[in-house]
Amino acid sequence: MTVTTRSDAATARGDALVGAARHLFTSGVMSHSGHANLSARVDPERFMLTTTGMVRDLRPDQVAVLDLDGAILEGELAPENAEIVAMHAVVYRARPAVGGIIHTHSPAATAFALANKELPCRAEPLLRFGQAEPIPVVAWGPRGSDISVRGIRTLVEERPTTSALLLANHGLLAFGTDPLGAARLVVAIEESAEAELAASALGGAADFPAGALEQVRASMARVGS
Ligand SMILES: [Zn+2]
Repeated sequence: MTVTTRSDAATARGDALVGAARHLFTSGVMSHSGHANLSARVDPERFMLTTTGMVRDLRPDQVAVLDLDGAILEGELAPENAEIVAMHAVVYRARPAVGGIIHTHSPAATAFALANKELPCRAEPLLRFGQAEPIPVVAWGPRGSDISVRGIRTLVEERPTTSALLLANHGLLAFGTDPLGAARLVVAIEESAEAELAASALGGAADFPAGALEQVRASMARVGS
């Protein structure tokens, strides 16, 4: 095993994972267990991954560095996280622009995953984060299994503009240009899933009018966000 010294850039990404985890908890989008795994790309061939599945009060030293084949270059993974390495690596391989990935069991989003129903894009926060399409469901497979990872790869390739996937009977996988961006997307997804479920009691959410995404982008460009 090659042991490398963590560079300043890698340390900064470790801090970014801590910040992203904190954002998930302070936003109230975590399940009761506090289970999640978060990762950040270090360079084209390496990424950092949280070492434990319990990320409440995550510390910067609770991250490992791996290559995209899953080899651990630095640190040590708890068994439950050794299982999910491929789930992150497959997205980094397929999407060169992705710099941060988060998996959670956020309750409302997970309700859609349990129902094996895609989450429609009918709430404004999703548009603001560029998720202007339904979030598709990856067919069930044990976490990190070949069948699950193959399903993730197929959907990230078939749906090149989706920034999130629902894992059937399991949870959510969201990706962004960095960990905080992915965390903000998780919050937008969870809010939207909650609102979608609440609206079902009122006869169901309505679709956006045509051109809504373009209008939101123009508005964001005007204020420089
Ligand atoms: Zn999970």
